Amino acid sequence: MDIEKYRVKPKSKVKLKDYSTKKDDSYDKQEVKDVLLPENLEKMFEYQEKLYAENKQAILVVLQAMDAAGKDSLIKKVFTALNPQGCKVTSFKQPSVEELDHDYLWRIAKATPAYGEVGIFNRSHYEDVLVTRVHDLVDKKGNEKFWNSRFEELNNFEKHLDNNGVKVVKIFLHVSKEEQKERFLDRINLPEKHWKFASSDILERQKWDDYMKAYEDMMQKTSTDYAPWYVVPADNKWFTRMVVSEIMLDILKKLDPKIPALSEEDEKNLDKWREILLSEDDNEE
Ligand code: ATP
Ligand code: MG
Repeated sequence: MDIEKYRVKPKSKVKLKDYSTKKDDSYDKQEVKDVLLPENLEKMFEYQEKLYAENKQAILVVLQAMDAAGKDSLIKKVFTALNPQGCKVTSFKQPSVEELDHDYLWRIAKATPAYGEVGIFNRSHYEDVLVTRVHDLVDKKGNEKFWNSRFEELNNFEKHLDNNGVKVVKIFLHVSKEEQKERFLDRINLPEKHWKFASSDILERQKWDDYMKAYEDMMQKTSTDYAPWYVVPADNKWFTRMVVSEIMLDILKKLDPKIPALSEEDEKNLDKWREILLSEDDNEE
């Protein structure tokens, strides 16, 4: 799959209308579900084992999207393929009183993955240039200088992670306004989906255009070589999963984690340890 077409090139002008929200017609749904996705998930699992054993690099996947774009179901269907030991999901909600008493990256830095791990951010530091900007929560409406310096801070933060072995990849699930409406209607009409319904989501929807503008500006200024943004079509969930699994495999291949070799000392003594084990008396407690 050509994932390049979903990647936002650094410093390029971003118009979300130019990015598709729909599946690519050259993919067959049944084949993806039955063959291609399971194969990719298996490969992700194998690479993750090596990443974990190597214990020198980490991956941080940042997920951002409008409501009902499918962040939760993506985590459920793609990232559960990973071994939970070595995988950490953190959801960022409205900041707590304690979090608000710190700089906005405080809670983020604490949640970054350890070496060997894949960390998934369900929402992230980017809320601080999205919801915060759209709702003017910091009283900086129209202050481009302020927002640009925040973008610079985000880039510097991610550069720091990259320099220290944490590979950052950012995914925007690009759902259309029409598809969001359908999904909200399902949440209203189907009792088993009522728990997902939030009246506040409908109010956020009314700010759709403001959000799109905030997303465009943000991606334009924070998609970098070291921490790229991908705009992944999100109207067809099975296709979203396929694209995200391809993005993950691309990163894992590039990181090329290696299972560490034994030290020379241990290697030399293997015969000795084998003998000790084999000479154990089986009747001994
Ligand atoms: P779901 O798909 O289940 O609704 P969700 O990610 O929307 O998942 P919610 O608990 O509904 O989870 O919403 C979290 C809310 O917290 C979002 O409205 C988001 O904008 C808000 N939020 C996250 N980070 C911040 C932040 N730094 N400042 C203000 N609001 C934030
Ligand atoms: Mg929500």
